[in-house]
Formats: sequence, structure tokens, C-alpha cells
Amino acid sequence: MSKAIISSLYDSDVFKMACRQFDQAADAISLPEAIRDRTKYPRRCMAVTLPVRRKDGSVTVFEGYRVQHNVSTGPSKGGIRFHQDVTIGEVAALAMWMSWKCSLVGLPYGGAKGGVIVDPKQLSESELEHLSRRYMQEMVNFVGPHMDVPAPDVGTNEKIMGWMMDTYSTHVGHLSPAVVTGKPIALGGSQGRREATGAGVAYLIKKYLEDMKVPINKATVAIQGFGNVGSETAIALENFGAKIIAISDYTGGIHNAKGINIKKALAYIQYAKVLKDFDGGQPISNEDLLELKCTVLVPAALERVITDKNAAKLKCRVLAEAANGPTTNAADKILEKRDDIELIPDVLCNSGGVIVSYFEWLQNLSNFYWTRDEVLEKLYGMLDKAKDAVDAQKRKFKFSRRLAALTLGIGRVAEAKAARGLFP
Ligand code: GLU
Repeated sequence: MSKAIISSLYDSDVFKMACRQFDQAADAISLPEAIRDRTKYPRRCMAVTLPVRRKDGSVTVFEGYRVQHNVSTGPSKGGIRFHQDVTIGEVAALAMWMSWKCSLVGLPYGGAKGGVIVDPKQLSESELEHLSRRYMQEMVNFVGPHMDVPAPDVGTNEKIMGWMMDTYSTHVGHLSPAVVTGKPIALGGSQGRREATGAGVAYLIKKYLEDMKVPINKATVAIQGFGNVGSETAIALENFGAKIIAISDYTGGIHNAKGINIKKALAYIQYAKVLKDFDGGQPISNEDLLELKCTVLVPAALERVITDKNAAKLKCRVLAEAANGPTTNAADKILEKRDDIELIPDVLCNSGGVIVSYFEWLQNLSNFYWTRDEVLEKLYGMLDKAKDAVDAQKRKFKFSRRLAALTLGIGRVAEAKAARGLFP
């Protein structure tokens, strides 16, 4: 058996973390050595420079990436992140998680992710449009409805997906909505896509609370991150009757034991852009929010926030990973021993986003559009199926819930790769 000869290209804490998760899952299901490395490492990656003319006439060159981790089980699928701390290693880790996520919930996709090193808040609207279009222009030969289908992630949104779809369509010479998901409804976006990730997170939380016999109207919730996913999770959980006692963004958080008025928080953000100085409660730091006593803790921002420093101090009953990769390997070890916390692992917890992306892609390819109720009903059906499969795997092998989810996702990708065989 030969071992992979891999450079330090992706070297980073977050890529090591995704690899460690893979190794543990591969060991747990005794994945044959011969299939391991080619299931584990990304299939290919692109790095591009993106020159953008600024308002003052100068030119700034940004760097962007797209990592296609697995293309053996369908077109690769995954978001594009605009964030100042993006690295190619992070994008590769996120692409790996997309592979396991799509496979776990039964989507006919591989996994991919993109990223650009940029703080989008520092760009004007037209600079952002130029950057988004330039990124897609560079990717034109590597993406496509049957090749690789991008979507929004941290720092990107519907409008950006619309620009990217337009750029691709202009290049191929006809409207090609299925090249990107998470588009505005007017451009072939799906009903329910904008809220899908948060709605899925909230739905799974409700299901797990039911299993634990905790009435949701008695549940308190702390949410770290108030972007698309965090805020939609808050709205859906509030609709289910839960009390949101803390929310935060990168400028800090708000705590209110009596419950935060989410509508008011959203209205405030519309105008102030950030949560800072929102008067719906007492200020709280992101670190303290994670350690608040609550029924449900929802990390909904970036990776690696639950660490060996705070894992033993969490005071929640459910840890719902709305973000990708919020929990380090060392924290996982601690959480595995904590019978008082139910973990809903990222690849299951936030899969609602890519599930509705799949629905959007199907609607685009068939030119037949569904109602919001149809979308949500099908979403909940797929989440139920994935949850049942994960919990059955957990019981059968006495795995942690993360290991159960990863072994299912990884096992299916490896099986498909083995069946396709090596070429030549
Ligand atoms: N960026 C989202 C995720 O991490 C959505 C990906 C998609 O819809 O393709 O799951």
C-alpha cells in the first residue's frame, strides 16, 4: 500500500482538523487503505488573481480559490466565501465537508468550495460586482451545471450569485441558471432558499428537543453569528416558540434572559449593519456567549470556536453546528465524554442550505418551479431521513453523532470511488 505524497499546499489548522476527522472515520469503518487517500484529498484546485478597479481609479488585485474535492458522485457543489481570512487550506477543508454533507443527505453531488481574500464590507457595490464577475470569469472553464455549481457562503449573497450567473450565461451565450444556486427568485432562485439553512437548523433542533422530551417553548437559545444562517435560525426557532436569549456578530453580542426581540434586532441591523449598540439587552462577548447557560447553543459563524479551552465549560443541552467546522478535534474529545450535551454535527445540522440548492438546480434544469410549501416539505423529509440514518448509525456502532454522520458520508463517497475504479 502506498501513502499519498502530498505537499504543504493546504497546510493549516482547519485542513488538519478536517483530515483528522476523516482519519478517525476511516479507521472506525476500516476503510481499505487503497481507497483512503483518494477519498480524502481534494481532486483539484484553482488559484486566481482578480484585478479590480477601485473608486479612486487605482487597481487592487485580490486572490481567489476554488477547490473541487470530489467529482466522482456528480457535479461538485459548495459555496463561495468572501472573507479577509480565507486561505486555500480553509477552502479545501470546507470542500471536504461539502463532500461528506452532500453524500450524507443523499444528493447527487460531490463537494467543492470557493473563496476570495477580501473584506466585502470594504468594497463599494460596484467594486463588489466587478470582483464577483471577475471571479466567475476566471472560473468559466471549471464550473457549469454538470461540472461544479457554486452557491453563497459567508460574505456572499443572492445578489452576488445573480452577477455570477449572468457572467457565466453571457460567456456561454444563453441563460444558464443552473450554474449557480442561491440566486434571486427573479433569476431562477428557489422559493425558500434564502432561509433554507436556518430553517433546517431550527427544524433539526426541534426534532432533537422532541427526542429529549424538552418542550421547545421552554427552550432558551444562544446564537453566535447573526448573518444569513444565524438570523434565519433565530426567526424559525422563535416561530417554534423558543426564547432567543443571546445573539452576536463580529462586533460583539447582546444577552437578554427575558428574550431578545429578533424582529427588532433585524431592523436594527438593516440600518446599523452590525449588532453593536443594539439596545435589546446587555452587551456580551462572543466568548462569554458560548459559555452561557441555555438549552441550545448555535455556533453560526466561522470554524474552530468550540475548543479545548471552552468545551468543558459549555452549559447547553444541545450544540447545533450551524457553521461548518465550529468544533476542534480536541473539543470533540471533551464533548464525546459529556453525556449532558447532544451534538448535531455540521454536516447534518446545516445541510438544509445545500438541500434547497439541489432543489433550485432541479427546478432550473427542468424549468418547472415549486411553491415554498413544496420546497419546505421536501426539505424536512430529507432532513428526517438523514437524521434517522445518523441516529441509527450512532446506535448500531456506539459512535458519537459526529462520527456516525461522517462515516455515512465518507463511506458512500469511498464506495462510489471504488466502484468507478482507477483510470487507466
Ligand atoms: N455554503 C453552504 C454550505 O456550506 C451552501 C452550499 C450550497 O448550497 O451549495 O453548505
